[in-house]
Amino acid sequence: TASANPFAYAPAPESRSVVDIAPSYGLFIDGEFAEAADGRAFKSVSPSTEEVLSEVAQGGEDDVDRAVKAARKAFEKWSVLPGAERAKYLFRIARIIQERSRELAVLETLDNGKPIKETRDTDIPLAAAHFFYYAGWADKLGHAGYGTDPRALGVAGQIIPWNFPLLMLAWKIAPALATGNTVVLKPAETTPLSALFFADICRQAGLPRGVVNIVTGDGTTGAALVGHPGVDKVAFTGSTAVGKAIARQIAGTGKRATLELGGKGANIVFDDAPVDQAVEGIVTGIFFNQGQVCCAGSRLLVQESVHDEVLDALKRRLTTLRVGDPLDKNTDLGAINSVEQLARIKALTDAGEAEGAERWSPACELPSSGYWFAPTVFSNVTQAHTIARDEIFGPVLSVLTFRTPDEAVAKANNTQYGLSAGIWTEKGSRILAVANKLRAGVVWANTFNKFDPTSPFGGYKESGYGREGGRHGLEAYLDV
Ligand code: NAD
Repeated sequence: TASANPFAYAPAPESRSVVDIAPSYGLFIDGEFAEAADGRAFKSVSPSTEEVLSEVAQGGEDDVDRAVKAARKAFEKWSVLPGAERAKYLFRIARIIQERSRELAVLETLDNGKPIKETRDTDIPLAAAHFFYYAGWADKLGHAGYGTDPRALGVAGQIIPWNFPLLMLAWKIAPALATGNTVVLKPAETTPLSALFFADICRQAGLPRGVVNIVTGDGTTGAALVGHPGVDKVAFTGSTAVGKAIARQIAGTGKRATLELGGKGANIVFDDAPVDQAVEGIVTGIFFNQGQVCCAGSRLLVQESVHDEVLDALKRRLTTLRVGDPLDKNTDLGAINSVEQLARIKALTDAGEAEGAERWSPACELPSSGYWFAPTVFSNVTQAHTIARDEIFGPVLSVLTFRTPDEAVAKANNTQYGLSAGIWTEKGSRILAVANKLRAGVVWANTFNKFDPTSPFGGYKESGYGREGGRHGLEAYLDV
């Protein structure tokens, strides 16, 4: 029947019943689930409904200590296991992730708020792909180009954010295990559940106890892990502020670190770009995962002569985006991960308006419960505006213009960050010339937000240091 609400389409929800979430979870230490030493716990809430999904242990210093000791003990055997033997476990984990992919996709969508389309097509398959990829390296480390006998570092303390919970876990754990390290990983406090399901997968795969330990908790738990003297290497993905705090905390300790921090990626559209393709790339660049992506194309730099044409086409496209129930297979934009993140997005977009940028959103009805933010485009943005400089980490695009390729490069590089960039043009020579001048760890050409385990990923400047993924990702876990 006809409806005044353009979003009232026939729903096609994924079944909540495919995942069995326990009312409470302990920490995963030395192959067993156990409560926190002091019995503390916190709730994990579904951001699309505000429903409490489960209660999860809040790890303290004693728990971190037990986990690091378990990892240290496991390291003695794990690190000297032949690479081909370690590979068998990683292949097994990869296959179990595939077998349990539907359950994991629904779980991740419930805990994070992102559309099932994304967890099903991106998060979970890519997590499995990372384990397959690094399983392949485990018996070939001598060929990785880091010397004839590269050694594991020891115990890796790994801290991950909430935007791609299982995928960030895979980025961290797969290369660490392949190279013979053992792990204590702390998931983000708003999305702990998929890491706990991963603990169950480790048991299912028969992984020796203590090789992977999961300690849930907040920033204090993370700081305890970073500060533990038994941790040899810190791998962190999260905000630039916390990354700097971690760098200060470990200074002088001899601990190795890789930091994957924030971004303010420029998506550069030249006047010869095919407009429809570019618009798809702009939409993927900033609305994938509600824009809560460190490498999001959050600044659109469009050549002045095609500004109006691109902006009009973009707005037309945005009126077709479906915002709502993330379990619905047709949904394009789900919920914002937390009430705190929603407040941050609101504050920054308010600043955008106050500073004089022009704000636009398509008409859309947002659900009454949960944390929601409509897709938003700011035009008439200048480089001085807060929304052109600060990372918003939400579905908000800032549109700026340029006249020449040099101006595009200068504006793209005019940021404290340096994680990602995109180039849209018909000219291959221009892609190469511009890409070489961009200070960004990843440059996509005529596409955006494409990920692959074989490609190294990481930042320049305040986006952090070190590379994850690909052969380069091994180096972060080896004594060369
Ligand atoms: P955050 O830095 O506050 O939290 C990330 C993780 O660090 C969480 O697990 C948190 O519990 C932990 N943590 C917090 N304080 C800590 C401390 N003092 N010591 C150790 N661990 C601590 O980040 P957030 O605000 O929750 O997430 C959003 C930010 O993460 C954005 O700025 C985004 O750019 C960044 N991010 C970057 C990447 C990347 O690959 N570069 C990926 C995802 C997110």
